[in-house]
Amino acid sequence: MNRFIYLDNAATTQVSRDVLDEMLPYFCGRYGNPSALYRFAGESRKAVDRAREHAAALIGAAPEEIYFTGSGSESDNWAIKAAAEAYAQKGRHIITSKIEHHAVLHTCEQLQKQGFEITVLDVDETGKISPKELKAAIRPDTILISIMTANNEIGTVEPVAEIGRIAREAGVPFHTDAVQAYGHIPLDVEKMNIDMLSASGHKLNGPKGIGILYIRKGIKIRSFIHGGAQERGRRAGTLNVPGIVGFGRAAQIAKDTMEAGSAVQVKLRDHLIRRVLAEIPYSRLNGDKTDRLPNNANFCFRFIEGESMLILLDQLGICASSGSACTSGALDPSHVLLAIGLPHEIAHGSLRLTLSEDTTLEEIDYVVEELKKIIARLREMSPLYEDFVKNKKE
Ligand SMILES: *Cc1c(COP(=O)(O)O)cnc(C)c1O
Repeated sequence: MNRFIYLDNAATTQVSRDVLDEMLPYFCGRYGNPSALYRFAGESRKAVDRAREHAAALIGAAPEEIYFTGSGSESDNWAIKAAAEAYAQKGRHIITSKIEHHAVLHTCEQLQKQGFEITVLDVDETGKISPKELKAAIRPDTILISIMTANNEIGTVEPVAEIGRIAREAGVPFHTDAVQAYGHIPLDVEKMNIDMLSASGHKLNGPKGIGILYIRKGIKIRSFIHGGAQERGRRAGTLNVPGIVGFGRAAQIAKDTMEAGSAVQVKLRDHLIRRVLAEIPYSRLNGDKTDRLPNNANFCFRFIEGESMLILLDQLGICASSGSACTSGALDPSHVLLAIGLPHEIAHGSLRLTLSEDTTLEEIDYVVEELKKIIARLREMSPLYEDFVKNKKE
């Protein structure tokens, strides 16, 4: 029996059939360059306009505030680097957090080398920043706050509305990496006072290689890719029409199905969490219990190497992840798990399972049963576990 169970939807998702069908005509038939003047190109242009409306509607933005990019990573880079450049006259201080995606953290490190000062906020044991600490960190020369909406590893949802209020009161632009949240939880750039927001198509059943950056009207930001006048002169490059169309359709579907879909996923997620914590000894849940993405479960199992767990799960056809995709392969434990205060040896035994709208209860139960066996087997081979059991008896 060789099954295939995909529980790594935080790494990427399947393009839905519906999204693909919407995209296909724009590869071969309607391939016009939306910048051209003839009517044939008008079809592409109209498709892009429609997609922009859907992308905007999902977060309460205006279509002209949506800029299509090549990825979530590009959106993060653009927001931070271009804001730093645009506001450098006012100051050179940026605030971010310890649990950001590397697209944000490494961008900030790059700016630091260029003389910007970066304050990296700590998080509590659930992975949340403290609004009080954020407020205290703001200075007259602070030009940007970049804090993610929801964490890609442990699923914790940050107090975004509160962060937005603090930023607005202080007159500091607020960027949020919403790549994991967009299309998964309700977001409203007006209510939450968000000035810039990054999202990526392939995290919500859209295609890879297409992202958006929402930029509030009035925010000063330079163009990042120089060249033609596409995207109101702010992001050069011939538009990726099929990708944009796919993004738009994925956003439209998410808007219609998010509420019902996430209720189902929350139920499955909580069932998974309950079973694992009850049936696997020395396990813990990472991230916040309730303020977490509907599809995310992240555990640590003591005396276990995450990598060995993944290999054994893979042999059963189960796709999961340990730490983030970017760090797997490296021996360093995840910066997120260290930031929530886990010691190295425990952070090494982490497992992230992220559900999709297709995940079933039967699959979850199967995974839990297999996981129990795998962990028992790995612990039997672990000298650390042997010592631990021996010491407990004495
Ligand atoms: C996946 C991800 C990104 C990167 O998006 P890409 O489109 O893959 O470049 C950035 N931030 C977070 C939180 C992510 O989960």
